[in-house]
Amino acid sequence: MTVFKPGDKKRVVVIGGGVIGCLTALYLQRLGANPVVLEKGKTGSESSWAGAGILCPIHPWLYPDSFTHLIDDSLARYPALNDMLLELTGMEIEWRNNGLLIPFFADDHIHHRDQALAWSDRFGWPVEELDAAQTREHEPAISASVNGALLWPEVGQVRNPRLLAAVRKALEICSVVVREQAEVVALEKSADGAICGVRLAAGEIIAADAVLLAAGSWSGELAQQIGMILPVEPVKGQIVLLKDQPGKVNHIIKHDDAYLVPRIDGHILVGASMERVGFQRGTSDDVVNRLLESTWRIMPGLKGGDIVQQWMGFRPGTPDGMPYLGPVDEYPGLWIATGHYRNGVALAPGTAELMSRWIMGESPQLDMFDFRVNRPVVEKEKVGFPVAL
Ligand SMILES: Cc1cc2nc3c(=O)[nH]c(=O)nc-3n(C[C@H](O)[C@H](O)[C@H](O)COP(=O)(O)OP(=O)(O)OC[C@H]3O[C@@H](n4cnc5c(N)ncnc54)[C@H](O)[C@@H]3O)c2cc1C
Repeated sequence: MTVFKPGDKKRVVVIGGGVIGCLTALYLQRLGANPVVLEKGKTGSESSWAGAGILCPIHPWLYPDSFTHLIDDSLARYPALNDMLLELTGMEIEWRNNGLLIPFFADDHIHHRDQALAWSDRFGWPVEELDAAQTREHEPAISASVNGALLWPEVGQVRNPRLLAAVRKALEICSVVVREQAEVVALEKSADGAICGVRLAAGEIIAADAVLLAAGSWSGELAQQIGMILPVEPVKGQIVLLKDQPGKVNHIIKHDDAYLVPRIDGHILVGASMERVGFQRGTSDDVVNRLLESTWRIMPGLKGGDIVQQWMGFRPGTPDGMPYLGPVDEYPGLWIATGHYRNGVALAPGTAELMSRWIMGESPQLDMFDFRVNRPVVEKEKVGFPVAL
């Protein structure tokens, strides 16, 4: 049985209906391919739904330059993505540049100032250094103990669940086949060792010209099934959602282990823990309390706000904090786009553009060496896996 639409277009099976898989499938369709998304549960319900939607890495200066190039390329594509989704679906993804502010307290353990300013200058990210009074002009409710801040006024955000809903709708409008409750349990190999399709849990085999593994935190398990080492592991992140008056928090505010992301309607996301606990679902009171304490330290006035909800997600973590992107030399026909870790939403449009064109035969314009699938496994303490609890 085939799930593809009839015709001679390149048949691409995309494993995983997160932001990476869905958006790449959409771009593949626009380039003239015949993609199918296979999702074991519901599309856009895992990490891509759970994330905070900050369109800037946490501490980008800790990564190699190639990572900034990838991020810059992807972020430059957000305006076009926003326009395309709005035009196609009429849906608003709440993409906006409300800026990122990192406040400084006198007793801070980590001082990012010099590194952050040097990185911003080198890569042309506008940044302002604020004293205490200027910080309060930008964020009137910030703690009286804050004695200055760095402000990146052009950093943006997007509301993930809305982004995913719009991408899902766009796939429907473009008649891309999306199958939910379709778990891929094996990659099918032809006699010459190439990957020629996938097998679903129910036994059905779907033949394809190319297979894209975009299964987020679960990608490593599937790769292992063909003997390939892809060290992608879940890194659990918990988030608390507060509700206060719209405008109480103006910018994304990041300090040490916590960040606040204000939505237009007064919701404020507080994130996020970094836990190496495998696929253990659920939130815990101790983590939620820690996040709340960090919030109140940054903005004591938020103490009165309502706690609306709390949730968690599994970031597809990698040892060096960088995604795996590209073909697998040992298995022609197999492509990888996973391990986006803390930056999958920021990297989504760039990844979708890059992977769709690459699969359709165009060489990438960026140097992809640092993101190659078979790179040595090197654990980087500051951006890689957190220490297990
Ligand atoms: C708390 C938290 C905060 C975050 N904050 C940010 C942020 O501010 N900015 C940012 O850019 N990023 C952020 N991220 C990271 C970002 O959400 C992820 O990097 C991104 O969503 C990864 O997308 P994905 O499509 O690879 O994975 P997912 O969204 O997890 O999608 C993978 C999909 O594959 C499916 N799947 C798995 N195995 C199979 C199989 N065998 N067969 C079929 N389907 C399968 C899964 O069900 C899932 O739907 C955050 C993540 C978390 C958890």
